[in-house]
Amino acid sequence: MTSQTVPVFDGHNDVLLRLMRRPGGEPERAFLDGDAMGHLDQPRMRAGGLAGGLFAIFVPSGESSGADELMAQATYDVPLPPQVPLSSAQAVTLRMAALLLRIERLSGGTVRICRSAADLRDCIANHVLAALLHIEGAEAIDPDFHMLDVLHAAGLRSLGPVWSRSNIFGHGVPFRFPSSPDIGPGLTEAGRALVRACNRRRIMIDLSHLNEAGFWDVAGLTDAPLVATHSNAHAVCPHSRNLTDRQLAAIRESRGMVGLNFATAFIRPDGQRNADTHLEDMIRHLDHLIEHVGVEGVGFGSDFDGATVPAVIGDARGLPRLLEAMRRHGYDEATIRKIAFENWIDVLRRTWGE
Ligand SMILES: [Zn+2]
Repeated sequence: MTSQTVPVFDGHNDVLLRLMRRPGGEPERAFLDGDAMGHLDQPRMRAGGLAGGLFAIFVPSGESSGADELMAQATYDVPLPPQVPLSSAQAVTLRMAALLLRIERLSGGTVRICRSAADLRDCIANHVLAALLHIEGAEAIDPDFHMLDVLHAAGLRSLGPVWSRSNIFGHGVPFRFPSSPDIGPGLTEAGRALVRACNRRRIMIDLSHLNEAGFWDVAGLTDAPLVATHSNAHAVCPHSRNLTDRQLAAIRESRGMVGLNFATAFIRPDGQRNADTHLEDMIRHLDHLIEHVGVEGVGFGSDFDGATVPAVIGDARGLPRLLEAMRRHGYDEATIRKIAFENWIDVLRRTWGE
């Protein structure tokens, strides 16, 4: 084991969803004290050097799409789940936002919801876990943006207009393998208004679950760097959720960023959800992303608690194994620090206009 400890700031986790669904009470304590379930809680973050990340609010679809089972097949095409009504999306969103606020309050200062890049830097320097409030799919946002303003005041700093589902703002990309991401229409008029509303409030727009038409719609409208918080290279794994070289070039052009997703179905060249996936397969994506976006445009977007990750990583405690594999592969310490946390802080600082 190396003596150097590099903190990791991560572009995507679903721990709030896991905690909300968890049987038994006191989900805040389960996070703070650790519950050894899923991939993430405070003790395991600290053990693995996970200093913070984007904590997603995600409204689950009513019934399971069967995506997990399908994505273990050789090829698949998971249908988009039905739309979620505004009122039920708002109820779930309120609950998950409150959960993160309560975790912060009960933590006694060990967890903080960050609202600026200065906050993030301060947390990482002082070993306070840095939580960034993010929405994955804007089902809870009304077309007049009342909810957007309330959530922004509660700390929201990042938003994906769609998950892999349709809503009033646009159409998400279905989970399909092998497939181009060019499936279906892009943003609606309301979606275009949402991009402008996020720009005005300096809320980061996450491209990860948009289809290709939606990606280009955002790219043509936004005044911020293009960011895909948890997506991989289509040239390595031709999954609909991954980014083509043309998309990567646009991200580079905007001085944007891609977070490496640890979901095995988006890593493996065969597109299968299979935990028997090697660190070298993840490094192939990093190499490709660095080549096409540049060393300043790559970070992590683990999808912890939202996906099947390689068994060799296991949970947040396994992050040092990935960093070690990057060292073995020849990445120098400066590159590793950029990918581990510096790039995220820098792109967020530029997005938020600090
Ligand atoms: Zn996602």
